[in-house]
Amino acid sequence: MKILVINSGSSSIKFQLFSMKERKVLASGLIEQIGEPLGKVKLNSSHHKEPVTQKLAIPTHEHGIEIISSFLIDSKIIKSLDNLDGIGHRVVHGGKFNESQLIDDNIMQEIINNTPLAPIHSPANIAGIKAAEIEAPNVPQVAVFDTAFHQTMPPYAYTYALPYDLCKRLHIRRYGFHGTSHKYIAEEASKILKKPLSKCNFITLHLGNGTSAAAIKNGKCIDTSMGLSPLEGLIMGTRSGDLDPAIIFYLERMEKLKPYEIDMLLNKQSGLKGICGTNDLREVQDKMSSGDERAKLAFDMFCYRIKKYIGAYYAILGRVDAIIFTGGIGENSASVRYQSCKDLSHCGILIDKKKNDKNSTHIESRSEVKILVVPTNEELEIAKLTEYIIQKNSKAN
Ligand code: ADP
Repeated sequence: MKILVINSGSSSIKFQLFSMKERKVLASGLIEQIGEPLGKVKLNSSHHKEPVTQKLAIPTHEHGIEIISSFLIDSKIIKSLDNLDGIGHRVVHGGKFNESQLIDDNIMQEIINNTPLAPIHSPANIAGIKAAEIEAPNVPQVAVFDTAFHQTMPPYAYTYALPYDLCKRLHIRRYGFHGTSHKYIAEEASKILKKPLSKCNFITLHLGNGTSAAAIKNGKCIDTSMGLSPLEGLIMGTRSGDLDPAIIFYLERMEKLKPYEIDMLLNKQSGLKGICGTNDLREVQDKMSSGDERAKLAFDMFCYRIKKYIGAYYAILGRVDAIIFTGGIGENSASVRYQSCKDLSHCGILIDKKKNDKNSTHIESRSEVKILVVPTNEELEIAKLTEYIIQKNSKAN
């Protein structure tokens, strides 16, 4: 099976083409600055030694998909986009969906209906789906939702303590995000531990530019740190994470900020960047090494918040088989992992400094709770889920 995975942003399309039998990437690329006077294209395939780069106007997502189609055909990887077995789309907000869906008119309408819950991401995801449908009208298209894995949370974990009827009417609840990544690393960790996922209790930590934690009991998510939107929870590159909501009204009164300005402040100017001026953890670490106190504060806050969530999820899980780190920071920053897990021996969590410094898979020693570094692969997970939904659907027919 050949599955194309598409991740559409408001002005970008990222893609990977998988051969599912070998779990191999045949081609990949990134199309950026769609809708701007000059767009950027970077395409890779197993037939090219160097990436193919271009600068040209890419007015719409449809033009972006056309570029991908021509590249795959010219590289002789496929004869036409219609020869693909499936196209899997990353869709950020899935509302009530608890698994990926084969896209038909009804599902498309549901995705459109969820737009108010993700006003920036949903229109981009919809543009990507529509463009792919035009270019490959006979190929099954599957929506893989970032929220779906977290739908197993119990009501006491996902309900906010606000007027109940209002929450119901406006669909206000904890949804959680990065679900594809949490699911993928949980499955990988169960293979590493040689224990069925249905018997595993995990604390998963996805630490990239966006960061989130999940508590997984017997293979199912029972809580996660992101909420109605990806703003809640851990400290992120530019997002505040958890916050006293009264700060918003205080800012409104004292700084006369408008709602969209506060939205920008919390999403784009806060987190690591808000504290020390950079959202890139490598730069935070470099500044810290040269004695920058704000960078040290940002780093300490970042790790302290992770540790608090480890404690909270330890309490609700009771028994923890493993804490799993992933994402650019989780996979590469030994110091974040160390600072977040140290001094937790009373919880059976003992990080091994040497193994941790080497970014080994197992970074615990004599620890009841394993501590694992598991590289995420959200694209492969989307391809696997797309294949699963297509096969399930063809059996049903
Ligand atoms: P995204 O969420 O955009 O996919 P990534 O998962 O690539 O982001 O993570 C980006 C973050 O990972 C940045 O803060 C970056 O500084 C951090 N990072 C990447 N490599 C390293 C490294 N070697 N050491 C520390 N941090 C790293």
